[in-house]
Amino acid sequence: MRTVAIEPTFESWQAAARMLLREGVPPADVRWRETATADQPSLAGEAPAPRGSVRVPRQFLELARRAAASADPARWQVLYETLWRLVHENHDLLTDARDPGVQRLNSLLTQKGPGEGESAAPFVPAGAGLAELRAAAARCTGCDLYRHATQMVFGRGDDKARIVLVGEQPGDQEDRQGAPFVGPAGEVLDRALAEVGLDRERLYVTNAVKHFKFEERGKRRIHQTPRASELAACRPWLEAELAAIRPEILVCLGATAARAIIGDSFRITRDHGRFAATRWAPKTIATFHPSAVLRGEDEAQQAQLYTMLVEDLRKVAQA
Ligand code: SF4
Repeated sequence: MRTVAIEPTFESWQAAARMLLREGVPPADVRWRETATADQPSLAGEAPAPRGSVRVPRQFLELARRAAASADPARWQVLYETLWRLVHENHDLLTDARDPGVQRLNSLLTQKGPGEGESAAPFVPAGAGLAELRAAAARCTGCDLYRHATQMVFGRGDDKARIVLVGEQPGDQEDRQGAPFVGPAGEVLDRALAEVGLDRERLYVTNAVKHFKFEERGKRRIHQTPRASELAACRPWLEAELAAIRPEILVCLGATAARAIIGDSFRITRDHGRFAATRWAPKTIATFHPSAVLRGEDEAQQAQLYTMLVEDLRKVAQA
């Protein structure tokens, strides 16, 4: 029996499932365990895809992403069983609505995830400017994340910025200092911005989720990826910030922010560095999160990710 520790996110499960499939480990030999830090590098979804990726119907990936948000502890096993059968038994399995495995997968889609139905919306003053929004957000209890974080971390920067950068959520230092991108990831971001000639003072920098989500391990607080329901709950704040600023260029830092803004079909390795119009900005682009650079497996991968970050930001500087 193989125990696989994953973060409770679709991306972490996907990275582990790919590895297990490549190694030919059948579902009956796998025990899934949720943890704050995955066995796989938590670059899952951020780092270049491994070679020899398995091809499965796009429909499965969409269903799996939704099923991953359910609260059922068996969901990772159900997903891997389905994936295994799609690859080894029947590529058209999902069309068989009477198959017990397919029915089990579908039942996950109707379950509510933890926190589902929670929202910041009642706390967001309509038509407010950034200062008023920031003050209101400090009182937000729209999801459970406010309970454990030190403080709400709102966006910072020029309220007339042409360029807005959106990350995932505050980290340990950001939570303590009450400002976005002031920790180690912020240092990477500052270095990359300086390299392409972008002045952070003239930008607006924020996160898709405003409270730090973490797990305590001894004295350390380990970052946890926000759930889809938490991203959805916090989204009204981001929407209000973007409505107040109306940027010309919107830069999503990392896969989580990109999916929150561009949509679920976004894949960072495939889609980063390309401008597209969204309802938030005529030019929206996504690149790697600076913390992905720090989490690179070795110096070579860190350098590769940093170079891609800089190249994408250079496009922003030149736009
Ligand atoms: S994470 Fe967002 S929605 Fe949840 S409490 Fe904090 S500000 Fe409100």
